[in-house]
Amino acid sequence: MVARLVGDGPGPVLALRADMDALPISEENDFEFVSQNPGVMHACGHDGHTAMLLGAAKVLVGIKGELGGEIRFLFQHAEELYPGGAEEMVRAGVMDGVDRVVGIHLWSGLPVGKVGVSYGPMMASPDTFKIVVKGKGGHAALPHQTVDSIAVGAQVVTNVQHVVSRETDPIENVVVSVTQFHGGTAHNVIPGSVEMIGTVRTLKPEIRDVVPQAMERVIRGITAAHGAEYEFEYQRGYRPVINDDEVTRAVGETVREVFGEATLEEMPPTMGGEDFSAYQQVSPGAFYLVGAGNEGKGITYPHHHPRFDIDEDALPVGVKMHVGTALKLMEGAS
Ligand code: MN
Repeated sequence: MVARLVGDGPGPVLALRADMDALPISEENDFEFVSQNPGVMHACGHDGHTAMLLGAAKVLVGIKGELGGEIRFLFQHAEELYPGGAEEMVRAGVMDGVDRVVGIHLWSGLPVGKVGVSYGPMMASPDTFKIVVKGKGGHAALPHQTVDSIAVGAQVVTNVQHVVSRETDPIENVVVSVTQFHGGTAHNVIPGSVEMIGTVRTLKPEIRDVVPQAMERVIRGITAAHGAEYEFEYQRGYRPVINDDEVTRAVGETVREVFGEATLEEMPPTMGGEDFSAYQQVSPGAFYLVGAGNEGKGITYPHHHPRFDIDEDALPVGVKMHVGTALKLMEGAS
């Protein structure tokens, strides 16, 4: 859903984005506002993002007379579900004519009262892969008559880590994680094949291009060495979130002016993914974090955990940040 606040005079067009989707997790919290839908939970704070942007819209509508240009409020679906709602919204034209785009993520790993900004690469491209190692099944007591897909698959798991440690610059950030390994049916049967699934995370397009090629070379070499065969599927996920310096600076200045220097936290990148990057392909933008954790209140669970929660004191911080950043970017660019 998109709402447009069109000012009286000419001016820039700014997009503010909030996502709204939940996750397929059964909530284990016992608040009065706990999820009413079994197996569905707001475990990433997106409900808070929507609340904050609604609050900001209310404030900005109240000062409409002072605004030129346009503020566009993007309420986005399906952030958690590749290929992502952002891409669909861009294709539907919500970014047409937009000069700058800004989005907030509530962050339980950052204490409430802090705002975290990152210049340049901020979140990774979450790519996924599937590897099938095809050997030859047989009796576990007669391994010489088989091509043991488990033994070969285990070497594949170990050796794809060399892509991280030996093939890419140690200064660059790369994650290769094998997160599923399926194979076998009995203690005395060597299975004919095993299947592995996992994810690759990178922060830069040029590193992202190198990893799947290196992985496939390793998989090809290992399977060939042991007389096995393989299938390798690699699916690109969201693009990395790379923040524009000028927009990020405007966010940082807003933090200083509205809350003071002590609130501002320069954050290193994380290897999580976010489809906010789809908007950044169209216009310069910044994505930043509003602290929502609070050890004193026991709000310490990570995102995507069944007991995830936010400190709701973060919500007014987010509203003030949206409004302050909007005012700064609207005046700065006009
Ligand atoms: Mn999220």
